[in-house]
Amino acid sequence: MQKLHHRIDGQAYPPHSGGWLEVFDPATAKPHAQVARGDARDVEAAVAAASAALPSWSALRNSERAAWLEKLASALESRIDAFARAESLDGGKPFALARDAEIPRAVSNLRFFAQAAVQFASESHHGEAGLNYTLRAPLGVVATISPWNLPLYLFTWKIAPALAAGNTVVAKPSEVTPLTATMLGELAAGIGFPPGVLNIVHGLGPEVGEPLVAHPQVRAVSFTGSTAVGKRIASLAAPALKKLSLELGGKNPTLVFADSDWRGQLDTLVRSAFQNSGQICLCGSRLLVERGIYDEFREAFVARVRMLAIGDPMSPETKLGPLVSQAHFDKVMTCIARAREEGGRFLHGGNRVEREGWFIEPTVIESLGPDCASNREEIFGPVVTLQAFDDDAHALVLANASEYGLAASLWTRDLDRAHRLSAQLHAGIVWINTWLMRDLRTPFGGVGASGLGREGGAEAMRFFTEAKNVCLALPT
Ligand code: NAD
Repeated sequence: MQKLHHRIDGQAYPPHSGGWLEVFDPATAKPHAQVARGDARDVEAAVAAASAALPSWSALRNSERAAWLEKLASALESRIDAFARAESLDGGKPFALARDAEIPRAVSNLRFFAQAAVQFASESHHGEAGLNYTLRAPLGVVATISPWNLPLYLFTWKIAPALAAGNTVVAKPSEVTPLTATMLGELAAGIGFPPGVLNIVHGLGPEVGEPLVAHPQVRAVSFTGSTAVGKRIASLAAPALKKLSLELGGKNPTLVFADSDWRGQLDTLVRSAFQNSGQICLCGSRLLVERGIYDEFREAFVARVRMLAIGDPMSPETKLGPLVSQAHFDKVMTCIARAREEGGRFLHGGNRVEREGWFIEPTVIESLGPDCASNREEIFGPVVTLQAFDDDAHALVLANASEYGLAASLWTRDLDRAHRLSAQLHAGIVWINTWLMRDLRTPFGGVGASGLGREGGAEAMRFFTEAKNVCLALPT
C-alpha cells in the first residue's frame, strides 16, 4: 500500500514514531494508503528546515518568488487529471468537481499570489506629521493547518500567500485527506523548489498540529477547520502572542424571496445546499423561504433534489459522493436522528444509502424552528432545513439566529432590500442572486463562531507580513 511521507527540506521522510495512519477511500470504506503519523520530533525537523531556508527565500526579489509559484502552478496544471483522481479517491468527491473546479482553483491560488507578490504595495502617509511609509516584512516561519473538505484548494490558499510574502512554511494537511498535499510536495521537489521553503508534516491534530502551533519559532498560524479546534489553537497561540487567522464553521442561511427568479435558479439553489455532499463551509444549510411561495418552492426544490445522482465519484453523472469518513458519517447520521427527535418532518432523504461506502441521501427537513439544535449546530453534510418567513424583518431574525456568521445568500429582484439586508446580515460574505462566485481579491472569512481575520487578496498578504511605520521629519 502507498505510504505518504512527510516532506522536510525537500526530502520525503518517514515519521520518527515509526507509526502510520490508514487513509480510506470513502466510496468503498477501504484503506487505500497509509500516512505518516507525525509527532513533535517531525515538527522540530520541519521547523528547523524552514528556519534554515528563511534567509535566502525572504531575500529573493518578489518577482523571483513569484516565478517559483508560477512554476509550481504550471506543473500542477499539467497534472490536473491525476490530482483530481487523487482528490476524489481520498475525499469521495465527484471526480468532475475536482477536475473542473477544485484543482483548477488550486492552480489559480498559486498564480494569483504569484501576481500578488509583485503587485503588493505598502502605504505612505504624509501631510500631517512628517513623511511616513510602511515597511512590510515577512513574519518568518509560519504554520498552515487545513481541513479535509477542499484539501488542495485550501492547502494552496494558505501556502501561496505565505510564500509570496517571503515566509517559509510548515504545512499540516488533514490526516483524513493527505494525498494531494503529499503529491504537491513531491511536485515542488521535482521542479527544484528551494528545499526547506515548503515543508509538509502529517498526522493527528493533537500529536502534530499542537506542537506545530506551540513551536516558539512559528510566528503565525493560519488555520481552517472546526470552531472547536480553532478555539483550542487560539488558546495555544495566545501565550506566545502569535498572529492567528481562523476560518471556522458555518450555518449559512439562504434567503429566498417571492420576487426572485427562484425557478430559474433552482439548480444553483440545490447546488448551494448539496455541493460536495454539503461538506463545504459555504453551503447554505438553512433555507429561508418567503411564506407566499413556500409550498410551491418546497415542491420544486424537493423534486430537483430527488434528481441528484448519488454514487461512484468517478462516474460523470454523479453529483453526490459519500461523506469523507466513518466518523463524519456517524456524526451526520446522529444529527439526522436528532432532527427526527426534535420533530422535523422529512421531505426527502434521512437515510444511509444501501451500498458500500459512507453515502447518505440528500436530506430536506421542515417544521424545525430557529432554536432547534438542527438549525443552530453545524452538520456539514447533505442536510438542509426549510423555514418560512413573513417579511424582511422576520427573514433577518431567522437568518441571524445563529452564533455562526460565515456566509449568506439572498435571492431577490429588489435591490434596495438586497443592499439593506446585506448590511444587516451577521455574515462575513453575502451573495446576492448567486452562490460561491469568487473574486480572489475580496476579503474572505466569517464573524462570531465562524472565525477571526480575513483571507484573500491584500488581506492575506497583510496577514503574512509585519508592518513597520517609518516616520521621517520633513524640513519646515
Ligand atoms: P478539524 O478542525 O477537525 O481539522 C482541521 C485541521 O486541524 C486538520 O488538519 C486537523 O488534523 C487539525 N487539528 C485537529 N485538532 C487539532 C489540534 N488540537 N491542534 C492543531 N491542529 C488540529 O476540521 P475538519 O473536520 O477537518 O474540517 C471541517 C470543518 O472545517 C468544518 O467545521 C468546516 O466548516 C470548517 N471549514 C471552514 C472553512 C472556512 O473557510 N471558514 C473552510 C473549510 C472548512
